[in-house]
Amino acid sequence: MPGDAFSNLGVMNFGISEEQRLILNVVDEACKKIRPIEDKCYLEHSFNDQVLPTFKEAHLLGLPVSRRYGEGQGADALTYALALERIGQEGTGVRTFFSGHTSLGQLTLQKWGSEEQKERYLPRTTRGEMIMAFGLTEPTAGSDPASLMTNFENREGNYYLNGSKAWISNGSIADLSVVFAYPKGKEEGMCAFLVEKDFEGFSAAPIKDKLGLPTSDTGLLYFSECKVPKENMLGSAGKGLGVAYSALMSGRLSVAAGCVGVAQDCLNEAVRYSRERVQHKKKIGKHQLVQREIAKISIELETSRLLTYKAATMKAKSDTNPENGELRGEADWAIAEAKYCASNASFNAADRAVQVFGANGFSFQNRPARHLVDTRVCRIYEGTDQILEQKIAVKLLGNEYEAFS
Ligand SMILES: Cc1cc2nc3c(=O)[nH]c(=O)nc-3n(C[C@H](O)[C@H](O)[C@H](O)COP(=O)(O)OP(=O)(O)OC[C@H]3O[C@@H](n4cnc5c(N)ncnc54)[C@H](O)[C@@H]3O)c2cc1C
Repeated sequence: MPGDAFSNLGVMNFGISEEQRLILNVVDEACKKIRPIEDKCYLEHSFNDQVLPTFKEAHLLGLPVSRRYGEGQGADALTYALALERIGQEGTGVRTFFSGHTSLGQLTLQKWGSEEQKERYLPRTTRGEMIMAFGLTEPTAGSDPASLMTNFENREGNYYLNGSKAWISNGSIADLSVVFAYPKGKEEGMCAFLVEKDFEGFSAAPIKDKLGLPTSDTGLLYFSECKVPKENMLGSAGKGLGVAYSALMSGRLSVAAGCVGVAQDCLNEAVRYSRERVQHKKKIGKHQLVQREIAKISIELETSRLLTYKAATMKAKSDTNPENGELRGEADWAIAEAKYCASNASFNAADRAVQVFGANGFSFQNRPARHLVDTRVCRIYEGTDQILEQKIAVKLLGNEYEAFS
């Protein structure tokens, strides 16, 4: 029962093993390499095409994927969350690449794919030879994915998809996308497919004029009689919505972890600047109202960090007991709380850091300004604030209080 304050104390042991530390050192090195490149791309508002080669060189493109597939490293959910927290400090654009490629792409394929599908695709994705994306959202279906319109027909042993997807992270750079569609006429449930970019009838385009994330790709996907071989259905026919919801657990956790990193970077920057900037003949860090901003960033950061580590530990426990629905439900709820808390904390932290920087906070030359616009999306994608609030409450009230039916 989630209301039992003591029920999850057993999972809250966040000691770092030597193996985790080694992985995090590699992540840290890759992050240091990407920072100057991300700085330059951000000021030019151009796509950062060095994220892929930098993290490929560090063998980090399949961190939580099983060692059986290519360069998968088999990291558990907490280790992967710690890595994403570090990556998040470099910006939400850099971290979003991993959410699309790994959390929503690779982990969904690993969980639901047949052995043949996994062997065909996963090794290449871990080596960076194939980039993944996850296409659920459509122009008229976001918070209510059950209402999506993309459909397919089964003809002569192939599936033919028609429709479109909107706002897909890595969408226009991906080689392989997990895509959801209903059988034409909706006579059965939703299905999931693995769609390669070279499949006949598939095309993609980047979305321009975004509020933030200028250095990462967000795309539109189009399917016009897109021919998908029958061996590319992912999971069982009619069970696509379950595939989507399980993917969102990994995706939300990745957002939470990245947001903890954003808030940490905002704290670091606010502290550094407060020690340097002088006004009224004092370092501004000596003004108590500036200290309040720093204290508030820190309190929300640590709250979201604890919730995120707890959620990651519960996800790891659920991953090792996949048949246990109760553990999965508990992890799903903890992840929703962590994502809600961390995405709001990161947005607040960026706002406070901008305030501490004054006019200099209003410039994209400084990371707080970039975090402010980039982290805003974290309260929208992978479950908006409103959807998560209702999800969290229904877990406590009971399913008969479900707000979406
Ligand atoms: C940069 C970016 C990257 C993205 N990446 C991906 C991706 O990789 N893959 C993917 O599939 N999608 C992706 N998305 C889409 C994202 O998941 C959706 O935007 C999100 O689910 C919300 O859907 P929507 O935008 O259609 O808003 P809507 O669902 O139309 O919601 C509009 C407003 O109504 C509120 N609302 C809706 N229903 C309810 C309700 N029942 N009760 C209360 N309030 C409600 C919402 O909270 C929101 O405030 C991305 C979006 C962005 C901006």
